[in-house]
Amino acid sequence: MANIKNYINGSFQNPINNEWIDNYNPSNGEVYGQIPSSSQEDVEQAYQAAKSAFPKWSQTTLDERSRILIKISELLEAHLQAFAEAESKDNGKPISVAKSVDIPRAASNFRFFGNAITQFASESHESIGQNAINYTLRQPIGVVGCISPWNLPLYLFTWKIAPAIAAGNCVVAKPSEITPMTAFLLGDLCNKAGLPKGVLNIVHGLGGTTGQAIVEHPNIKAISFTGGTATGAHIARVAAPMFKKLSLELGGKNPNIIFADCDYEDMLDTTVRSSFANQGQICLCGSRIFVEAAIYEQFKTDFVAKVKQLRVGHPSEATTDIGALVSKAHLEKVKQYIKIAKEEHGSILCGGNEVTIEGFESGYYLEPTVIEVQTNDCRVNQEEIFGPVVSIMPFETEADVLTMANDVKYGLSATLWTNDLKRTMRMSNQLQAGIVWVNTWMMRDLRTPFGGIKASGVGREGGFEALRFFTEAKNVCIKY
Ligand code: NAD
Repeated sequence: MANIKNYINGSFQNPINNEWIDNYNPSNGEVYGQIPSSSQEDVEQAYQAAKSAFPKWSQTTLDERSRILIKISELLEAHLQAFAEAESKDNGKPISVAKSVDIPRAASNFRFFGNAITQFASESHESIGQNAINYTLRQPIGVVGCISPWNLPLYLFTWKIAPAIAAGNCVVAKPSEITPMTAFLLGDLCNKAGLPKGVLNIVHGLGGTTGQAIVEHPNIKAISFTGGTATGAHIARVAAPMFKKLSLELGGKNPNIIFADCDYEDMLDTTVRSSFANQGQICLCGSRIFVEAAIYEQFKTDFVAKVKQLRVGHPSEATTDIGALVSKAHLEKVKQYIKIAKEEHGSILCGGNEVTIEGFESGYYLEPTVIEVQTNDCRVNQEEIFGPVVSIMPFETEADVLTMANDVKYGLSATLWTNDLKRTMRMSNQLQAGIVWVNTWMMRDLRTPFGGIKASGVGREGGFEALRFFTEAKNVCIKY
């Protein structure tokens, strides 16, 4: 049994209440370890450790903070195989994806913010004609909370804690209870890299208790959260009376808009990826596909043919394209949407069924599924499914597709396939999304802002946006 412990003040601890939660391996449905079901007392202990570490860490030179972050990045790279195996086992994602995407990106997060903090300077302005100078300090907040989801476990966990500690804060962090393993392993690397005790504290447990205790803590002054929209709304309500700073990265229902003048083969390959990467469990997946009527029938034939070639298999197999869904409950939720699609008169063009893998019969496998829908207002097109399920439908005009793309409560990302520059400019200006990709998907420059509008969130991560979130601006004005 792989038992996980809390990482508090640089050491590994059992939960004070000695209560535990089973951790499942989604590839075979078996319990393979236990994680702490931490209470408010564990969160308090983590907070006290962070509070004690803050005066020294916030005064540590940028060079030293940078050196430690880059060292953690190097250690992650050195342990790539072990971390990728742990991530794949915990989450069900193909090992190839964990190895080429998740863990390298977690290492990049530390390297990127280790470098970025040395460039993040205060600004100053002469007040012209008034013999005065203004300068703006960016000061760390203190103890901050970071709460992350299960779909990209270490990738998103480190996307928060790296800028938080780079900016001089101390952290109480909680990974998803469904995928705690790589965050647990990270603690050891932080010690090896020389991160001082208490700068990062990792508390495991359920959202409604452990997560809630972090959000409710009166002296944890900012919360960076990635997860579902309903959870984000709840956190905002709890945090509001305490005037906590909040960054909320929430759900998505992203349009993938395909015009007849696109580079067809490139679009087709990328659309398979943007539909089914990570079993469709990425907030940025293009789950609503709109295709210009002139190429709709051709697209339908070619897309379905390619989707049928995807191999559903055990995550540890090198040939697997689609691994296991993260949990039994999530599999049931996704299957429910396939049922809803049928009730809404959608046509299942391919997939729709569970898959049994020999030797792993209790794993959570589902065929990649393409549904042809009649209208954009059906539930399948309006609600986040977050699994290997996409819908397709045709459109006639640019105006029509723009209306449908925006007619949803979410606003995270949008993808556009066209070679028409003027259309690109018109549409990218008008699409209601925090990120617009044109002729590509998931291409990321870590310096650029990342985040959503509408029900997809509040605030931006990435580059200096993240460092701004994790600092308070203070303007000092001196008359001379
Ligand atoms: P979730 O909201 O159920 O849980 C996310 C985290 O919040 C977990 O660690 C959970 O334990 C914790 N949590 C739950 N209730 C809490 C509470 N009351 N107080 C404090 N913490 C609480 O989300 P999930 O199912 O883990 O993740 C899937 C969702 O995340 C999807 O909606 C997806 O779109 C979204 N997501 C968004 C982004 C983005 O960048 N916008 C990225 C990845 C995932």
